[in-house]
Amino acid sequence: MKQLGTLFVISAPSGAGKTSLVKALLEQDKQVCVSVSHTTREMRPGEENGKDYNFVPMEQFNQMIEQSQFLEFAEVFTNKYGTSQLWVEEQLQQGKDVILEIDWQGAQQVRRLMPECVSVFILPPSTDELRNRLTGRGTDSDEVINHRMSEALSEMSHYGEYQYLIINDEFSTALQDLQAVFTARRLELDKQQLKLSSLLSGLLSE
Ligand code: 5GP
Repeated sequence: MKQLGTLFVISAPSGAGKTSLVKALLEQDKQVCVSVSHTTREMRPGEENGKDYNFVPMEQFNQMIEQSQFLEFAEVFTNKYGTSQLWVEEQLQQGKDVILEIDWQGAQQVRRLMPECVSVFILPPSTDELRNRLTGRGTDSDEVINHRMSEALSEMSHYGEYQYLIINDEFSTALQDLQAVFTARRLELDKQQLKLSSLLSGLLSE
């Protein structure tokens, strides 16, 4: 029987360091890949189409919804975001593990459709630290920062829906924690039985 990859769903408020943690994980772990979402939001400076997101007009996004091309989609802060079903299925069929960096609404949809997925929530170590991280270079007004804080609070209120909870205080510790989740999943009996079938039958044949 062919071994299927695992789907990992990772959510966090902005400022928790999710993207940096996933990037560091990808550098060390060649079995895993990350889904590039489609979004209707404007490209930010430094972002690349096809790498950070597939940036598409609203009309195209809505067409993709009608054609059932998304595994999940959600509206986050007035923009739409969605995950390509076909791409994810292809990776899993090839035995690759796939990470979805998505919000709580998308995570709920994925858990309903694929209950075998592994879900992880990343939190900052404190409100003060979150505010610091969201303040960035200090060029934003209090109003903008307060708005980001309330969006973060609303995302964080869903942490209890996830299987694993990681606090990103010390980056290297949080990265080790995330790697441990991936490792634990790969060592589960059913995954190991598929991967090691000939070793196991050899060991037990005498
Ligand atoms: P940003 O625009 O700052 O990159 O992302 C805003 C939020 O949208 C983040 O919480 C991010 O996890 C979420 N997001 C990004 N891609 C997707 C997606 O494909 N589906 C869903 N549901 N949320 C997404």
